[in-house]
Amino acid sequence: MHAELIDGKAIAGAIRDEVAQDVARLVAMGVTPGLTVVLVGDDSASATYVGAKEKASRAAGMAGETIRLPAATTQVELLALIERLNSDDAVHGILVQMPLPKHIDPDTVIRHILPEKDVDGFHPVNVGKLLIGHTDGFVSCTPAGVIELLVRSGVDTRGAEAVIVGRSNIVGKPMAALLVQGRAGGDATVTVCHSRTKDLAFHTRRADILIAAIGRAEMITGDMIKPGAVVIDVGMNTKPDPTKAKGTRLCGDVHFESAAAVASKITPVPGGVGPMTIAMLLRNTVRAAEMVVARRSGR
Ligand code: NAP
Repeated sequence: MHAELIDGKAIAGAIRDEVAQDVARLVAMGVTPGLTVVLVGDDSASATYVGAKEKASRAAGMAGETIRLPAATTQVELLALIERLNSDDAVHGILVQMPLPKHIDPDTVIRHILPEKDVDGFHPVNVGKLLIGHTDGFVSCTPAGVIELLVRSGVDTRGAEAVIVGRSNIVGKPMAALLVQGRAGGDATVTVCHSRTKDLAFHTRRADILIAAIGRAEMITGDMIKPGAVVIDVGMNTKPDPTKAKGTRLCGDVHFESAAAVASKITPVPGGVGPMTIAMLLRNTVRAAEMVVARRSGR
């Protein structure tokens, strides 16, 4: 391996420290940022994510709670809860953990959250603000975290060829919008690839910055990477590993060993993009509280 590791855990830790300082400043002004996470059903991966979000928000000094609802909760009941949270001044950020049970439409739920409390950045108003370059919205936490990783690792995105593999609404598309905009961490020339892309390797080999958000274990191999490229692996997959008690281990969308042999910088999985997602969620929640304070004081 000759690539330098981009340490997402350390960078996320620095952001969480900054958030804790912002929280302390707001608390001194009489406002405790509050994040409410809603979990419907008993999906074990979702329960783990929600637990981590709750722990991190407490560690940063925030208020808030996790509301756990049974899988049989109706859409009407969930929307009524969101309305209550929308009108609760102590709640600055609302996050409904996805995926929801099949009988609940996620788009309807997302649209019900007030855009100014949508700290996940999924509401169409926030997505629209991102696209037109307005900075008073919330950006989806994972792509926002990738930009922070690039900026804080000293990667110059200006004029770089950035190739994103994946076009989901939560990662690929907002990632493209962030990389193309004319500010820090942007100004790249962006290509977005997906399952219908002809000759994927042709595109990935052109990338100065390659971002994999595919959901396919170790699909991007070293021969698909330009020597010296920066590789960001968003993927979170499992693969068989008989040496582990569970019989599996976490892996990314990039084949780490072969990629690290040609890249200049690379994120590991775990310890790369993953920790950034929660750090950016906390930062969005603090911003939501700051915006309330600014509105109150007429700024
Ligand atoms: P998704 O909604 O399933 O989107 C996957 C994208 O990859 C789609 O656009 C799909 O193309 C594309 N794709 C699939 N197979 C392909 C192929 N063979 N060649 C080229 N493109 C292909 O997934 P997601 O929500 O964006 O998540 C992507 C990965 O990131 C997953 O592993 C997920 O677990 C992980 N993730 C991690 C974090 C974190 O905090 N670290 C957060 C979110 C997601 P089509 O659109 O054509 O189907």
